[in-house]
Amino acid sequence: MQPKALILFGPPGSGKGTQAKLLREKLRVPHISTGDMLRERIASGDQLGVQVQGLMHAGRLVPDEIVNRLVADRTSKADCSGGFILDGYPRTLQQAEVLATQLRRQGFQPVVIHLKVDYTKIIARIAGRRQCPVCGALYSLTSNPPQRPDHCDLDGTRLAIRDDDKESVIRERLEAYDRQTRPLLDYFAATGEPFHELDGNDGTPQEVLAKVGRVLNLE
Ligand code: ADP
Repeated sequence: MQPKALILFGPPGSGKGTQAKLLREKLRVPHISTGDMLRERIASGDQLGVQVQGLMHAGRLVPDEIVNRLVADRTSKADCSGGFILDGYPRTLQQAEVLATQLRRQGFQPVVIHLKVDYTKIIARIAGRRQCPVCGALYSLTSNPPQRPDHCDLDGTRLAIRDDDKESVIRERLEAYDRQTRPLLDYFAATGEPFHELDGNDGTPQEVLAKVGRVLNLE
């Protein structure tokens, strides 16, 4: 059987990152988040980080060539040979086309999972989102608060609010999603590759994971 490239697709705040982390534990394959990779580059202050910082903080997409290169480099590493999870990529038609060619050449089966969530929920979720700047663990002030306020349960680091999680920037990100990313749904449907749509509005992350497991025929 071909190894799978699981593509988690959905608007910002739909729970892609949370599901990707849970799936990584379950499937034991790498979780590739373009957002996390770009934030790491900003934190390290290297040239690419400096180049993308302004766009990311404004809630705009970074150029396709940059993310295409990051993903191609990452997925060609040995630990991806049994499959991997993509979170936040592809986000434009050009990215999707580049990815499709790459997956075909490398022999991975793409499987898209679309997490559908209403806009009103998204804004509330993103506003309450906190992340550990060291280990990347995600928290929600309403549904998954840390045990000690403002500190990571895993390593005690003070939790951070992402620069682009401010309300004015959230709107820009949702607009970018509508304009550049949502149209990919038609593209995916037309490829004839496996495509699953799930309601991500309600339930705990574990309950949503169970739905993902069912469509993927895990267990
Ligand atoms: P979210 O899905 O919650 O918006 P991400 O961490 O996936 O969060 O993305 C944060 C930001 O990183 C995006 O707003 C964009 O600026 C940049 N980014 C991430 N992935 C991509 C991508 N595939 N193409 C272009 N920009 C990206």
